Amino acid sequence: MNDLTIIVPCFNEENSIQNFYNEVIKTLTKLSEKHNVSSKLLFVDDGSTDNTENVIKELASNHSETIDYIVFSRNFGKEAALLAGYKHSKAQYTVIMDVDLQDPPELLEEMYLGIVNEGYDCVATKRKDRKGEPIIRSFFARIFYYIMRKFTGLPIADGARDFRMINRLMLDSLLELRESNRFSKGLFPWIGFKTKWLEYDNIERSRGSSKWSFFKLVFYALDGIVAFSSLPLIAVSLFGILFMLLSLAMIILVIVRKILYGDPVSGWPSLVCIILFTSGIQYFFIGVLGFYIAKIYDETKQRPQFIVKNSSFTKDNI
Ligand code: UDP
Ligand code: MG
Repeated sequence: MNDLTIIVPCFNEENSIQNFYNEVIKTLTKLSEKHNVSSKLLFVDDGSTDNTENVIKELASNHSETIDYIVFSRNFGKEAALLAGYKHSKAQYTVIMDVDLQDPPELLEEMYLGIVNEGYDCVATKRKDRKGEPIIRSFFARIFYYIMRKFTGLPIADGARDFRMINRLMLDSLLELRESNRFSKGLFPWIGFKTKWLEYDNIERSRGSSKWSFFKLVFYALDGIVAFSSLPLIAVSLFGILFMLLSLAMIILVIVRKILYGDPVSGWPSLVCIILFTSGIQYFFIGVLGFYIAKIYDETKQRPQFIVKNSSFTKDNI
C-alpha cells in the first residue's frame, strides 16, 4: 500500500476548512478504493488570529486517523508552513495544497499516476492563464518570472502553483537545503528531478480572501531574486564601469573644448543635475548591497523558520 500526505497551510481560513475537507475526501476515498493509497491530511495553522485552530482541532478529533495538525505560535508565512509540513511528512508521496479550493482535488489521481506509472519524480501544476486577476498584478507577475528566469538560468515556470506531488527522494533532497530564505518556486527547479506539468484553468477562491497584498508580493519577488541570483551585484559593478567611462569621455571633451575654444568655466546647473543623478544612483546601489547583507545577516542568525505551539504529533522535536 502506498501512502500520501497532503500538507495544507492555513492562515485565517476558518470558513474554508470544512468545505475543503468535504471536497478533498471524495478524491482521497477514490484513491484508496481504486489504487489502494492511504492518505493523511496535515493542516498547518500558520498563526491564524481567527478560529482556524479550533476548526482544525475539531475536524481532527472527528477523523483522528486521517488528520494531523501543527499550530504555529504566530504567523511565519506560507513557506514556513510548508517546511513544517515537509519535516513531518513520513509518506512516500507528499502533496502541497491550498485550503481555498483553488487547487482542484480531482487532479490528485492524475498526479499520483504520473509518478507511479509514468516514472516522474514530481507532478506540478500551473494555470493556463491569469483570467480573473487584476491586470496590473498579471503584468508585474510576468515581468517577475521573466527576470527570474534570466537571472537564475532556472526554468521557473510562469503561473506555476505550489500545488504539486513529490516523491520521497525529492522531499528528502528539499529538506537538505538549509537556507532560511526559502523560495519554493526556485528550490524545486534547483534540486532538479523529472517534473510533469499539468495545466488547468484559473479557479477563483471559494471563500475568504487572498492573503497577498501587492507589496507583500513585491517583497516576495525581491526575496526570490536575492535567494537565487548575484546578478544585481554584478549589474552594480557594470554600472560603475559605465559611469567611469562616461566621465572619462566628458573630461576629454572639456579639455579639448578648452584648448580649441578657450571656453570659460560655465554650466553649474548641469553640474548640480549630474551630481544629484549620480549620488541617487549610488544610494540605490548601496541599497542593493544592503539588501544582500541583510539576507546574509538573517541566514547567519540561524533562527528556526517557525515555532510550533502545539500539534497532533505527540513528541515534537523540531
Ligand atoms: N497562507 C499561509 N500563510 C500566510 C499566507 C497564506 O499559510 O501567511 C496559506 C493560505 O491559508 C492558503 C495558501 O497559503 O491556504 C495560499 O494563500 P492565498 O490563497 O492567500 O494565496 P493566493 O492563492 O492568492 O496566491
Ligand atoms: Mg488562494
